[in-house]
Amino acid sequence: MTVLNIHIYGDSVLRAKAEPIEQVTEEIRRLVADMAETMYAAGGIGLAANQVGVPQRLVIIDVNQVESESERPQGRRKVNPAKRQLLPFLNPEVIGNGAEDRSLKEGCLSIPGLEGEVYRPLRVKVRYQDLEGATHELEAEGLLARVVQHEIDHLNGVLFIDRMAQENRRTLAGELSKLRKLAEENPQGIPAAKVRK
Ligand code: ZN
Repeated sequence: MTVLNIHIYGDSVLRAKAEPIEQVTEEIRRLVADMAETMYAAGGIGLAANQVGVPQRLVIIDVNQVESESERPQGRRKVNPAKRQLLPFLNPEVIGNGAEDRSLKEGCLSIPGLEGEVYRPLRVKVRYQDLEGATHELEAEGLLARVVQHEIDHLNGVLFIDRMAQENRRTLAGELSKLRKLAEENPQGIPAAKVRK
């Protein structure tokens, strides 16, 4: 397995609309394994294929990490390999959401060092395929619903900063222009370990 580079805000691949996965090939399985290594190396709990430079409709989420995060939302991530519970979502789509919205601070491995308040539905229903090609529906709430929505946004070229209130986003302008410069200097992305805070 290989730790891949992570593409940074300003890189056009993060604005690409990812292509559906028609068939689960060996290449897709390898991509899932490599993305998992990359996500853990960067200390993340979710990762979309765009973020490693592959515009295909695939995201991974460590459900166990999401759960432990919600128990201690301010805590640093200590990934215990024995407790990894990775779910790959192929062609995921939100097929319904609850009426109630929540505001919560989000971050993103492709926008390292920045956080912002984002309103999103508290509950969502998602349809996706697994690596065997079977279709599933998942009803998620809380932090899992949040992460699923954040990752599916990536597949549509949408970043959390796009969903921030304008006045809040404006306060990040200076940092964002630094990241754009970093992305320009690193068109192949930056090593996952460097993204880690
Ligand atoms: Zn992200």
